[in-house]
Amino acid sequence: MKYSLNVAHLYGNLLNTYGDNGNLLALKYYAKQMDTDLTVKVISLDDDFKAANFDLVFFGGGQDYEQLIVSKDIPSKKEELTKYINDGGPMLAICGGYQLLGHYYIGADGEKIPGIGALDHYTLSQDHNRFIGNILIKNKQTQEEYHGFENHNGMTFLGKGEKPLGVVESGHGNNGKDKTEGVIYKNVYGSYFHGPILTRNGSLAKHLLITALERKYPDADLSQQKALKIPETF
Ligand code: GLN
Repeated sequence: MKYSLNVAHLYGNLLNTYGDNGNLLALKYYAKQMDTDLTVKVISLDDDFKAANFDLVFFGGGQDYEQLIVSKDIPSKKEELTKYINDGGPMLAICGGYQLLGHYYIGADGEKIPGIGALDHYTLSQDHNRFIGNILIKNKQTQEEYHGFENHNGMTFLGKGEKPLGVVESGHGNNGKDKTEGVIYKNVYGSYFHGPILTRNGSLAKHLLITALERKYPDADLSQQKALKIPETF
């Protein structure tokens, strides 16, 4: 392969609901067609995360129980993760991972699960309810539609500098109120979509990979990679 990317899988042994790890299979599938090799490393409890060592980061979702465990370890990685994000590092964060990038998440039992506050959103709890079901959103900038399946207690409210990944056409999205779903902040994509999101929405996998390649190989001719056609898979 002509190119290679190092991928950090944050807490991959703890946060993997509804097949979120399938996102890594989708990334590998598209990376191969882009002449790119992916090396994935799980970065979990007590492991060191160094921003400079990674070209792409994936952070999956989880139950409140696992999120609470992660929230106690993640402060040790906060500085480097924030640096990675602010430097424009590409990242995909799903559900619990997405919540933990923000200020906090109030779990189903009312406990406050702190996040790293690298992004300005916060997440409240619903009263004996979850948002469950198929969801369709549209990104107003790219006109791309994304299909997914959501299952979350959290209601997320976006903050400063955050744009939604899309506007809800059907389903609940971030909070069931403001029609936003997910987030885009710099090169971070956050979403409540399981399913996993990248297998059904290959265009997002392509955005992440192209961003990572452009950052790592600023002088390379990536026209073949950019020309890759993504099939509709939903
Ligand atoms: N535990 C969180 C919630 O219920 C995240 C769920 C998930 O990652 N699927 O909102």
